[in-house]
Amino acid sequence: MNTIVPIPMSAEPTVPRISLSVPELAGNEWRYVKQCLDSNWVSSAGPFVDRFEQDFSVYVGSPHAVAVVNGTAALHVALRLAGVKAEDEVLVSTLTFIAPANAIRYLGAHPIFVDAEPDFWQMDVNRVADFVTKDCHFDGNVLRNRSTNRRVKALLPVHILGHPVDIDALVEIARAFRLAVIEDATESLGALCRDRTVGTSGLFGCFSFNGNKLLTCGGGGMMVTAHSSLAERARYLTTQAKDSALEYVHSEVGYNFRLTNVAAALGSAQLERVDRLLDAKRRIASTYAAAFASVPGLTAMPEAPWARSACWLSAILVKEGEFGLDSRALQRRLAGEGIDSRPLWQPLHLSPAHRGGQMLGGRVAEQLHAQVLCLPSSSGLTQREQQRVIDKTTAA
Ligand SMILES: *Cc1c(COP(=O)(O)O)cnc(C)c1O
Repeated sequence: MNTIVPIPMSAEPTVPRISLSVPELAGNEWRYVKQCLDSNWVSSAGPFVDRFEQDFSVYVGSPHAVAVVNGTAALHVALRLAGVKAEDEVLVSTLTFIAPANAIRYLGAHPIFVDAEPDFWQMDVNRVADFVTKDCHFDGNVLRNRSTNRRVKALLPVHILGHPVDIDALVEIARAFRLAVIEDATESLGALCRDRTVGTSGLFGCFSFNGNKLLTCGGGGMMVTAHSSLAERARYLTTQAKDSALEYVHSEVGYNFRLTNVAAALGSAQLERVDRLLDAKRRIASTYAAAFASVPGLTAMPEAPWARSACWLSAILVKEGEFGLDSRALQRRLAGEGIDSRPLWQPLHLSPAHRGGQMLGGRVAEQLHAQVLCLPSSSGLTQREQQRVIDKTTAA
């Protein structure tokens, strides 16, 4: 049940509100959670945690999966295991939710923000290539940023809105310049870059099961990796680095980041229906794209020919000159009709929380931030509801 009390809207008070993205708990969620309660396995051990990890690793096609409390924790631990240390630098997308930049800062490292490319709105690989070739130099085995003399250690691309970054190109750069790649795949579970599942090309792929993601555990996250030693380290660090099951001996400073069995029960049930959820997301995106194709000034988020987007959130680019309204005015009009919509995140190079970070470009992200609006994309969105969103969006 959605427990958020609907805000009465003046225009049509009897028409229910249409949310941006809400979970669909229509499978075995109740049954599996009840099993946890009936068996007393409610905490960070129990059969559903192991099962969720196994099923998830099979689904994304990665040999190892480690379940954690949320996607931010996954990124934090993945960066630490990639060897990122205080005063290192990590290249990260500027056009993203703030979590990956925060994870870099938790380690005392510095984000370098990379602009988006204009075609698919993802991290601009050419900016990364330019930076490492022109603005960095090798000092022995260590890549250093000429302007700060700090070690550049890792790339943290974020596959935003369900669409992949060109991860193959980034992995190639990373190989040549000895950088670790951590994929923030939190918004793009089920997406493909060429024939590879998003999240399986880097050292780690990180996923989130927050309430509005494709799958939800209430809150939850997953780290996937091809390396058994890294998976073992991840499991160790996320369970307080406990050396012995009986004696309280810890050789390192770990974290209490393990997912609970109740959350994993939800996740296991959600994962059984992941293909259905993905189909719904893709159908919603293609319906919007078809409806707006002939509307001057509106463009649906494009999909690269080398990609299959998970279409987590459907987004449109609003050109005020041709459409007549800017994205924020359209947002207000939809809100007046009881329809939720949302702009993209403030680009992180403009975020007060990350002031002073180095920026590679930035104009594309700023323009997308001004012009893009995300539309209702819940997997349970009905055809009638979607038609209402379309009608109210295009209404003269
Ligand atoms: C949702 C999200 C995360 C992680 O979210 P949690 O709420 O910590 O699970 C990280 N990065 C991006 C881009 C996200 O959208």
